[in-house]
Amino acid sequence: MRYFKLILTFLALFTGLLANNFRQNSNVILITLDGVRWQEFFDGDDPFLNDDVADAYLGESFPIFWNNHAKNSTIYGNLKSKSPMTVNGIPVSLPGYKSIFLGHNHNCRNNSCDRVLTETFPERIARELHLDKYQVAGFASWGKIELALEHDPGNIFVNTNITDVDDETDDPIIDSLNALQKSDPPKGWGGARRDIYTWAHGMHYLQKHRPRFLYIGLDDSDEYGHKNQYESYLASLHQYDKWIDELISQLKTMGEYGKNTTIIITTDHGRGKKKRWTGHADFSWNRHLLTGKHIWCTVLGNQVNPLGIVKKIKGKSHQSIRPTVELLFGLTPSQPEKALLEAFNSFK
Ligand SMILES: [Zn+2]
Repeated sequence: MRYFKLILTFLALFTGLLANNFRQNSNVILITLDGVRWQEFFDGDDPFLNDDVADAYLGESFPIFWNNHAKNSTIYGNLKSKSPMTVNGIPVSLPGYKSIFLGHNHNCRNNSCDRVLTETFPERIARELHLDKYQVAGFASWGKIELALEHDPGNIFVNTNITDVDDETDDPIIDSLNALQKSDPPKGWGGARRDIYTWAHGMHYLQKHRPRFLYIGLDDSDEYGHKNQYESYLASLHQYDKWIDELISQLKTMGEYGKNTTIIITTDHGRGKKKRWTGHADFSWNRHLLTGKHIWCTVLGNQVNPLGIVKKIKGKSHQSIRPTVELLFGLTPSQPEKALLEAFNSFK
């Protein structure tokens, strides 16, 4: 019995050390691709929509990911593998982003909601790990994402829309990106910034600040979706595929920082089927409303137990992301059972 207690004590100590180890070393990069359907993510272009699409965009929409990185990833949301992943409320952007960063239910039903009322997980990471504000950062093309990122603005670094990035340093690269994004505002995008500038700012920031948590929110895909420009939508996905590959290569040049970084990629909502693809779903029919609820998520990095596309894993949602990131940082989640537990041996 005494030995049993000793073993238990040792195990508790070991688990604590493990948690501390995570806490000291782990980094997370979260990327969202706005309104990218699970259909294109898993299966490529849609035969119902691909008339007049250039050959370059037919076939897989994330070819580099599926050829080179899927084997090192754990991937949720494939309906064909009986592993649905869903939004928690209705398939609309701001409610989706709020579910991601809050990790619990909320009352937001549309894009006109106000700022979140309670602490988000990036805010919690900064507070509990006593991090400098530049160590927890979010860049987004769409401005309203900042309403989901922080309930108390200013404790983390946030930059959205066509707003100058200012990290309180003299930096000619940031200055030139700020000038470029201002000279190239997309018409009819409600103030959103083109993803090319969001991505460039984010990658520069990654190398300069080596943040513990970095969020990058991309939006071109949803803008082209709403405008029924299927080829441009597919072109955005191919661009995202290249950027994800670049990010993985970049991390490989960053030594221990790169080795300790987990990448999580997901979307805020799906879209309707066939001709209804331009909307997030068909809100006049409940059965179609269901189509936009399905999302997907992939995690990769040295910490990940790579299962490829998971099979028969149900119950995952936007609310799975917060506890996953908290566990990676050694923090205790309020709903640990919702985390992407299969993807990390260290969580078991
Ligand atoms: Zn959206």
